[in-house]
Amino acid sequence: MKTIEDLDVAGKRVFVRADLNVPLSDGRITDDGRIRAVAPTIAKLVERGAKVVVASHLGRPKGAPDPQFSLAPVAERLGEILGRPVAFAADTVGESARSAVAALADGEVALLENLRFNAGETSKDDAERKAFAEQLAALADLYVGDGFGAVHRKHASVYDLPALLPHAAGDLIATEVGVLKKLTEDVERPYVVVLGGAKVSDKLGVIDNLLKKADRILIGGGMAYTFLKAKGHEVGISLLQEDQIPTVLGYLAEAEERGVEFVLPVDVLVSAEFPDLKGKTPANPDTVASDGIPADKEGLDIGPKTRELYAAKLADAGTVFWNGPMGVFEHPDYANGTKAVAQALIDSNAFTVVGGGDSAAAVRILGFDETKFGHISTGGGASLEYLEGKTLPGLAALEG
Ligand code: ADP
Ligand code: MG
Repeated sequence: MKTIEDLDVAGKRVFVRADLNVPLSDGRITDDGRIRAVAPTIAKLVERGAKVVVASHLGRPKGAPDPQFSLAPVAERLGEILGRPVAFAADTVGESARSAVAALADGEVALLENLRFNAGETSKDDAERKAFAEQLAALADLYVGDGFGAVHRKHASVYDLPALLPHAAGDLIATEVGVLKKLTEDVERPYVVVLGGAKVSDKLGVIDNLLKKADRILIGGGMAYTFLKAKGHEVGISLLQEDQIPTVLGYLAEAEERGVEFVLPVDVLVSAEFPDLKGKTPANPDTVASDGIPADKEGLDIGPKTRELYAAKLADAGTVFWNGPMGVFEHPDYANGTKAVAQALIDSNAFTVVGGGDSAAAVRILGFDETKFGHISTGGGASLEYLEGKTLPGLAALEG
């Protein structure tokens, strides 16, 4: 894979596909980790006299402009981080984008509006995607792929565009791939994996591969309830992927066969309702054993005994990969499980990798020092699919 050092960027329009998909609350950026992660690549291109055209998606707009998903607040924040103005185009490939790019002097930066305001970006139709990629290609001379969080997507700006322009991988992608590669090769043991979060079916696939690699797998978050149900326990109104129960049972059996330690919560925090994430009114959850969840209640965090158990299971780790919060960490009453795991990673002497948009944001929002972790990935799905051994379209396109 070529790096940006291999490109002659001075005076050229360089399209940087970044992942600036940051969490927003009422138009305010609640975690700017992804902006800070790609800023060094942009700064390097600026220093070398490129005209930098940055593009990203944000959220899941439906292929048409939707103001709640505008990248305008990101342009402002990117400018603050870079310490230089960032021009913002009010569209992606229209008149505003064309004039913003045409106005760039060497060493200047423009951010285009959300790629997903255009149906071609995510289209399953190859021709439709390619047509949009051609419109993007008209805005640039060179392509730098640095949106690690999106490389698992076969999208126009990720997959089709690099085929149309001389291209290279940015520094963020190079770092991310280097770290994940390390996890698939020789790892310091015990190798402990912690999985949680809400996207249960997205994440089960990785277990298949990790069972061949890891020594210990700890399960928390919304994913835990499918496992508890598979073991025959009542899970009340907790997040549940009923159709995945056979798969989950298969994993438990394979873990036993391979001598991989599979650890499920022994207690959980439950409530009759999902917490108020805006007002953060006290939720007053109950703590129950994980085989005693009442039928009318929902599990929303791991309990105190599980926090201790998981901390102990992480204490002697040589390597840790963590994806997915242990509970609904956005509410203070359900943040303790996620905090306990983050602290256990810091306290261990292991090489620790945190992957997942929400997990990475949680670490920072809950006040942990990110330099205490080995690596905080900007990619959730991307890092999981890499570890699953899948070919990632955005990486394959950069290889070509
Ligand atoms: P990541 O982005 O790190 O990959 P996910 O997107 O899969 O993680 O999940 C993050 C979300 O999971 C958080 O918003 C959190 O509130 C939610 N979550 C965690 N535990 C539970 C639970 N028990 N029930 C419902 N949602 C949960
Ligand atoms: Mg997420």
